[in-house]
Amino acid sequence: METKLFQNPNSEQELNEAAAILRDGGLLGIPTETVYGLGANALNETAVKNIFIAKGRPQDNPLIVHIPDASWLPRCAASVPDAAYRLAERFWPGPLTIILPRHPSIPLQTTGGLETVGIRCPNHPVTRELIRRSGVPIAAPSGNTSGKPSPTTAQHMLADMDGKIDGIFDGGASAVGVESTIIDLTVTPPRLLRPGGLPLESLREVLGEVAVDRAVTEKLAEGERPRAPGMKYRHYAPKAPVTVVTGSPKASAAYIAANAPEGAGVLCFKEYLALFSDRITQSLGSENDQGEQARRVFDALRRFDQTPVTEIFAQCPDPTGLGLAVSNRLKKAAGFHVVEVAE
Ligand code: AMP
Ligand code: MG
Repeated sequence: METKLFQNPNSEQELNEAAAILRDGGLLGIPTETVYGLGANALNETAVKNIFIAKGRPQDNPLIVHIPDASWLPRCAASVPDAAYRLAERFWPGPLTIILPRHPSIPLQTTGGLETVGIRCPNHPVTRELIRRSGVPIAAPSGNTSGKPSPTTAQHMLADMDGKIDGIFDGGASAVGVESTIIDLTVTPPRLLRPGGLPLESLREVLGEVAVDRAVTEKLAEGERPRAPGMKYRHYAPKAPVTVVTGSPKASAAYIAANAPEGAGVLCFKEYLALFSDRITQSLGSENDQGEQARRVFDALRRFDQTPVTEIFAQCPDPTGLGLAVSNRLKKAAGFHVVEVAE
């Protein structure tokens, strides 16, 4: 199959052609502010099955359903509590996925067999327009091959999906860079299932008490089932094994300088690139800029795949604000191989 690259958001013809791919059961790479998604008609079981095949994704790992605005919530959820509308009002379009009871029109193939469904309104004009034109909710997981770092550019996505899907709409680099925050509103108190582009602190401003699922910060025991099925898989991993080092940037840098063997690459804050000038490095951005860290993390992990590093040591941001999502992605890339340095 030839994968067509769409590049002109001002072309009626391109928008209509891309929307028709979605409506008619094809697979389309869609730009969002979090990461690129692999989209298909969420109501079409065959199309959704093809997403799993293209990604090599386990069948029990549910997809997020994308809608162009909150008025579509009742089309996807069997019931919509007031809290969902309050969150949508404040944070949509944006990097927040809300888990609600599944509407019967959303097939179990889309929800990985669950009676709940994750719904999000992405903040990217091209994708919202494509969903509107297609007329159907769009199921889309991240557009990477299962297990690899998520794509934040059309080029990343082409590298994984060329020849496997009908097209990709290039909407520029993703502005946030990590996936959506997932909040489960089917339990009391609401529960954070995955940290992401919307900080936990912001959710608490609207909802009050929010529980944090254990899978966010810890490796689960063999056979243990997290509430967000995706959290149990090894994820975001470059080819070389990763060790994450927590602690203050100064302390983690000192640990890596003293302990990384020859041949190891370093993923470090910009301020420490000079310290590791004799190694292969990728910058995670400034230690003071969490937004930059989120935008860079997946691209930096992918770039190591083009180098001969034997392993990777990564400095890890504090788990506050967007740092909770970035540290979670790094720890998952490392299979939770974490060294905690005091300080
Ligand atoms: P991805 O877009 O590739 O990050 O995958 C979406 C992730 O959202 C899945 O891996 C799940 O962990 C989570 N998710 C989607 N729908 C649900 C749901 N109904 N309940 C719990 N988690 C969900
Ligand atoms: Mg993913």
